[in-house]
Amino acid sequence: MKLTNPATGALLRDVATDTARTIRAKYARARAAQPAWAALPLRRRAATIRALRNLVVERQEELARTLSLEVGKPIRQSRNEVKGLLPRIDFFVAEAAKVLRDEKVFGDGAMEERIGHEPLGVVANISAWNYPYFVGCNVFVPALLAGNAVLYKPSEFATLTGMHIAELMHAAGVPEDVFIAVIGDGSVGGALVRQPVDGVFFTGSYATGAKIAAATGRRMIKTQLELGGKDPVYVADDVDVAAAAAAVADGAFYNTGQSCCAVERVYVHEKIYAPFVKAFVDEVKRFKVGDPLDEATYIGALTRKPQLDVLKRQVADAKKKGARLLTGGAPIKGKGNFFAPTVLADVDHSMQVMRDESFGPVIGLMAVRDDAHATALMNDTEYGLTAGVYTPDAKRARAILARMQAGTVYWNCCDRVSPRLPWSGHKHSGIGLTLSTYGIQTFTRPKAWHLRST
Ligand code: NAD
Repeated sequence: MKLTNPATGALLRDVATDTARTIRAKYARARAAQPAWAALPLRRRAATIRALRNLVVERQEELARTLSLEVGKPIRQSRNEVKGLLPRIDFFVAEAAKVLRDEKVFGDGAMEERIGHEPLGVVANISAWNYPYFVGCNVFVPALLAGNAVLYKPSEFATLTGMHIAELMHAAGVPEDVFIAVIGDGSVGGALVRQPVDGVFFTGSYATGAKIAAATGRRMIKTQLELGGKDPVYVADDVDVAAAAAAVADGAFYNTGQSCCAVERVYVHEKIYAPFVKAFVDEVKRFKVGDPLDEATYIGALTRKPQLDVLKRQVADAKKKGARLLTGGAPIKGKGNFFAPTVLADVDHSMQVMRDESFGPVIGLMAVRDDAHATALMNDTEYGLTAGVYTPDAKRARAILARMQAGTVYWNCCDRVSPRLPWSGHKHSGIGLTLSTYGIQTFTRPKAWHLRST
């Protein structure tokens, strides 16, 4: 499989991919190795994860550079991602003992009831390219702590990062058969899902998630799907317009708009619509587009070339239906997958740009009459990952956020993930969760112990 740099088109490396035969063999190795891993005391498994953390710290610059080279992420944002891994690892290591401990829930002398937490066994982790460290770590770190073996398939667009992760894991002391990378594209992912694994943990698009759900449905194994979003933000009429415009623009364009929780729709109260649109466009025009390895770059290359056409189609559809194109609107000529940061005003819900995931530097702004109008439009979507409100009024924000059909809601912030809070979606944004203490427990099965001593 040829890996290319999305910013230049240059070949990075030609890597060998797994086949049905090698995947079967990797599965067999993981199956054989898992019981001994699970039998280790948790502190031994946790020690390897701490060693992994130390290696990430030691090699962070090299890891960030590889990430920028293969996915086109601006180097400062790659560094943020690699550094952002550390508090997640710390959270999982600190919480695992509490979550995985057997729990006595009843005892009257003769009868005792306990809840035990057993690992699922061998799990498949099929991952996305947009935040490969984050979405991978949310699965493989707690899965390993809980005593599972992991067959980890990085995205074909983040293969070198996936190979780095496997190498660091093994250097940290996780046995080679307990964490195994499976290399290749969607067909390799499909073959992995066909193995008799005990769970599939997937991050990616709704279209692929639906295929995986169909493939595992009849096998009654745990299947978690963390999928796309079309995340809305509502800017109320009582905000500081310049500050809100800057915060929302960052939420929409950070990571070149390729975040599952990127702001994808902006609703603005009609009383401040005109000044907000102006402040927003001014902000976007200041974003520096360019070489991902340049320290000053804020907008890098799109990871996948075909996405340029998706964005072109969304812009053309919006313009045809009456939207105003205020900046950007087209791919940037020359080498690499660059699309100019694009703002469309006066959009509506007949337009693709307000319905389908853009996953790029394109955003639609729409005026709304009041909070009720905003609430209805925010929920008018197939997705339900996050939703945010900007207003200084806590009561007003809570009233709106309580009605959001989304796994995560934000007041005066957006595009934010915390290891302490569960990450989950409603509707086409998926099923299951990662992060928080629930995101450790999800890699276990509860066992109910009824123990009568006489
Ligand atoms: P994708 O669905 O194209 O690919 C995801 C993974 O699935 C890749 O590893 C791919 O090789 C594999 N795959 C493809 N076809 C398969 C098949 N038939 N069977 C098994 N595996 C298969 O998604 P992507 O382009 O890598 O990621 C972008 C998407 O991920 C966006 O929709 C984004 O919103 C979503 N995402 C969601 C979250 C979240 O936490 N909810 C986080 C990051 C990204």
